[in-house]
Amino acid sequence: MALSIPDIRNDFPILKQTVYGKPLIYFDNGATTHKPEVVIRTVSELQESYNSSIHRGLHYLSDRMTERYEQARESVRAFINAASTSEIIFTSGTTGSINSVAFSFGEKYVRPGDEILITEMEHHSNLVPWQMMCERKNAMLKVIPMDDRGELVLDSLDDLITEKTRILAVVHASNSLGTVNPVKEIIRRAHALDIPVLVDGAQMVQHGEVDVRDMDCDFYVFSAHKIFGPTGSGVLYGKEKWLEELPPYQGGGDMVDRVTFEGTTYNALPFKFEAGTTNYTGAIGLGAALEYVQSLGIGEIKEHESHLIRLMTDKLEGIPGLTLYGRAGHRISVFSFLLDQIHPYDAGMILDKMGIAVRTGTHCTQPVMDHFGITGTIRASLVFYNTEEEVARFADGLEKTMQMLS
Ligand code: PMP
Repeated sequence: MALSIPDIRNDFPILKQTVYGKPLIYFDNGATTHKPEVVIRTVSELQESYNSSIHRGLHYLSDRMTERYEQARESVRAFINAASTSEIIFTSGTTGSINSVAFSFGEKYVRPGDEILITEMEHHSNLVPWQMMCERKNAMLKVIPMDDRGELVLDSLDDLITEKTRILAVVHASNSLGTVNPVKEIIRRAHALDIPVLVDGAQMVQHGEVDVRDMDCDFYVFSAHKIFGPTGSGVLYGKEKWLEELPPYQGGGDMVDRVTFEGTTYNALPFKFEAGTTNYTGAIGLGAALEYVQSLGIGEIKEHESHLIRLMTDKLEGIPGLTLYGRAGHRISVFSFLLDQIHPYDAGMILDKMGIAVRTGTHCTQPVMDHFGITGTIRASLVFYNTEEEVARFADGLEKTMQMLS
């Protein structure tokens, strides 16, 4: 059944407001998404009624909070079809998850002269941690190039993967170009040479099915706040065999089994990777967000977003002087573009005064901007609560912006 967008928008209190007297058009979902009532209520109910540290107390409140936290872990497991909740680590977000893998994997498996493979379209979060690891370990960062449509040049894989390649990290959907990468194919080719793959799903989980077992990725990471959950929380999925073998990234409370001054043994999975008091309210809020998304139906979300993608593409292509960056065949509803002779910041400011929120700049993908020889773009990123009318108003807003600034 098709989504009822007016009903869905009613679930998001923030969307009801006006900005500078105009109805808000929020097209900055790539940066962060808004929260439905159920997530807001879940988090405030936890603060009001359950606030208590998890896993440690034997008292009623601590037990209830622990139960909700572990239920949230099960919701994440089910959402991405992981084999076991032992494979679901709660982190501070995508960035926290990738740093954790880059550190732990680097410590255990990377030697001087080894190679790490990433792609030209990575977010800085899936680039800098690997670069830092390469510096620490005297290893080399190699890059799978992309073409001018914003699609990876996979023919280069055979040359780039060598016997020194230790891990490959790739973004599932690009936050600045909208490209959805053929991760299953990349993983199949990497695995044929025994190379594990980390997939950055920060921009994918909110737009389509993610099945980590079908994909066969070794690690999958995402942030709660980009899938309608709270900020400061996220997920690191790792195959159990890797998580068992990797050393923990951080030491502290909860991740230990026995501690003496002579040495420490670690807790079982997933707790080995959850040192200290975690952001358990964020994790439980994420669980509520995933259940909300599932109640709408990923198939239905995809159908509505595909419709918005077609509309946006038509509208943007119809505006003379607009250049679209990222023309991949398989894409999410993220559009990067420039208006002839107009600085993206100026356009962003004018659009803001029309009540339209977009992102301008490099979108934490400076190498992508370098590829196209530009310093930044305007980015409009849509999710299921956006509408046809908003797309039409946005296109009008762009035309007006061009008239005003040309
Ligand atoms: N990877 C991608 C593709 C992203 O879009 C983002 C956020 N813009 C990140 C990683 C980092 O996410 P976070 O800031 O939530 O850790």
